[in-house]
Amino acid sequence: MKKLKGIAASPGIVMGRALVIGSEDISIPKKTIKESAIPREITRFEDALTKTRAEILNIRDKVTHEIGKEHGDIFNAHLLVIEDRALIEEVINQIKKDRLACDYILSQVLKKYMESFLKIDDEYLRERVSDINDVGRRIMRHLVGTQKMPLAELKEKAVIVAYDLSPSDTAIMHRRNVIGFVTDIGGRTSHTAIMAKSLEIPAVVGIEYATREIKDGDVVIVDGSGGTVIANPSLIEVQKYKQEQTRYDEFNKALKKFKDLPCITADGRRIELSANIELPEEMDSVISHGADGIGLYRTEFLYMNRVDLPDEEEQYHAYKKVVSRMGPRPVIVRTFDLGGDKFLSHLEMPKEMNPFLGWRAIRFCLARPEIFKQQLRAILRASAHGKLRMMYPMISGIAELKEANQLLKECKTELKSKKIAFDEKMEVGAMIEIPSAAITCDILAAEVDFFSIGTNDLIQYALAVDRINEKIAYLYEPAHPAVLRLVKMIIETGHSKKIWVGMCGEMAGDAVLTPVLLGLGLDEISTSPVLLPEIKKIIRLMSYEESQEIARHALTLTTGVDVVHFLKQKREEILKRSRSKK
Ligand code: PEP
Ligand code: MG
Repeated sequence: MKKLKGIAASPGIVMGRALVIGSEDISIPKKTIKESAIPREITRFEDALTKTRAEILNIRDKVTHEIGKEHGDIFNAHLLVIEDRALIEEVINQIKKDRLACDYILSQVLKKYMESFLKIDDEYLRERVSDINDVGRRIMRHLVGTQKMPLAELKEKAVIVAYDLSPSDTAIMHRRNVIGFVTDIGGRTSHTAIMAKSLEIPAVVGIEYATREIKDGDVVIVDGSGGTVIANPSLIEVQKYKQEQTRYDEFNKALKKFKDLPCITADGRRIELSANIELPEEMDSVISHGADGIGLYRTEFLYMNRVDLPDEEEQYHAYKKVVSRMGPRPVIVRTFDLGGDKFLSHLEMPKEMNPFLGWRAIRFCLARPEIFKQQLRAILRASAHGKLRMMYPMISGIAELKEANQLLKECKTELKSKKIAFDEKMEVGAMIEIPSAAITCDILAAEVDFFSIGTNDLIQYALAVDRINEKIAYLYEPAHPAVLRLVKMIIETGHSKKIWVGMCGEMAGDAVLTPVLLGLGLDEISTSPVLLPEIKKIIRLMSYEESQEIARHALTLTTGVDVVHFLKQKREEILKRSRSKK
C-alpha cells in the first residue's frame, strides 16, 4: 500500500484501476516488427503523412482567411517539413533496415534533425526547430493518437494517472469511464482542476511522483476532497474509504434540500448564487444544483480540441442554447480567454517564457479583432434569446476596456444595419483579475455595468504565485490579508460607482470564506455547481450583520493562516445552528 499526498482539486471519493499515461515528451516504445510487417508499417507512416499534410493545408487556408496571409504562411514552413524527401526516405529506410515501428523511428529522426538545427549558427534555421517539433507532433497524433484518444474513448472505467493533463484533455474525458484522475504537477486553480470539478470527477493534482509510484492496473483510491491517493490499499483502508464515500454521498444528499430555496440571509439580504461552466453540456448540473444563473461561461473551451476556429454561426448557437435553457436567469458569457494554460493546436501562439503574463485573453483578442468580432457578434445575437450579460477577461487598464467596447459598438452597428436582433441593454462587465485593474477600478467603472472578481488570477498576480505550480501551492492563499483588502476595495469602489460586483474565481466556492465575502458586500457568487448548495446553506444560516462583523474581524488579522483558523471556528458555530434546528 502507498499513500500519496497532493492537492485536493475536485471533491469526491472513488476507487478504481489506474491507467497510467505518459506526458507528450515521454519516449515512444521501441517496438520491433516482423519482416513481413514492413510494407504495412511503411504504409502506416505514409498514411499519417498524407493525413497530416491535409490537416496543415486546411489549417493554413483557414488561418489565411481568418487572420491573414502573413499568419497562414507560417504553415507553409510546416508543409516544407512534411514534404522533405530526405526526412521521409530516412524514416522508410530505417524501418526496412532496423525493423522497428515507424513511430519510434520517426521520433528518433526528428530528434536528430532538431538537434542538428539547434547547433547551426543561424537564427532563422534554429527557429525551424519549432516547426519540426510541431509537425512531428501532428504526425505522431495520426500514428499513435495522443493521450486525448484513450481519454475520449476509454472502454472501461479507470482512474487516469498522468504527469499532467491539459484543460483540453480534461474537457473530453468521458464522464462515465474516467472516474477520477491524479497528476504529478498542477495547482488547485489550474483549468484542469476547474474542469474536473465541473465534470464532477474527483481529482488530486500536484503529487510529485504519482506516475512513478502508481503502476498501470493498480487499484487506487482517489480522495479528491482530502487530496490523498492510496495505491493498492489494504482491506482496512478500503473499508475506511467506503465509509468516507457514504458520508460524502449523504452530505450531498442532505444539501439537496437547499436546491430550490432562495439564497438569502436570515435577515433578508439576497445574494445571487450562480454557476461557472466551461461547456454547454454542464447545464444539467447547473439546473440540478439550483443556480440562480451562470456567472462565468468560459467560452474558450469551444475553441479547443478541434482543428479550426468556431465561426460566428456555431458560437451563436452554442450561446443561444445556454441562454435559452436558463430562461429568465442571467448568463454571463465571458469572451474567450486563450493563452496561459489553455491553447489551440492550430493557432500559432508562440511559446512564451511566462504564458500567464503573456499574450492572453483580451490581449490576444484586441490583436486579432477579426476573430474577436466574430465572437462579439455571436454573443450579441444570442442576447436576443434571454438575459445575457457579457464580460471581458484580463483587463489591465481603461485603454483596453475602451478598445474592446469600441469593437462591441462596431458589431452592434453592423448587426443593426442588417436588422439582426440583439439586446440593446445587454450588460457589459470587466473581470477584475489583475492588480492594476483592481487599483484603478474606480476608473474602469465608467465603462462597464459590473465587475466580476477573478480571484484565480488576481491571487497569482498579487502574491506572485503561479496558480499551477504545486511547489509553491502553500503560498497561494485566498485568505491572505492582501487579497482580502483587494476584494474589499473592489467591492466598495464598485458600489460607490453604482455598479454591482460579483466573484467568479475559485475563492468564491470556498465555503469557509463565504461569511467574509458576504460581509464584504459581494452581490454575486459564482462557482462550480456542485459547491453551490453548501454555500447557500451557510448564507441562509447567518445574518448579514453577523457576516459584516466576521469580515471586519478577519481584516484585522495579519496572516492568511490566522484568517482561515478564525473562519473555520466561525463556520463550526454557524453549522451548529442547523444541527440544533433538527
Ligand atoms: C479567474 O481568474 O479567477 C477566473 C475566473 O478566470 P480563469 O480561471 O478562467 O482564469
Ligand atoms: Mg482568470
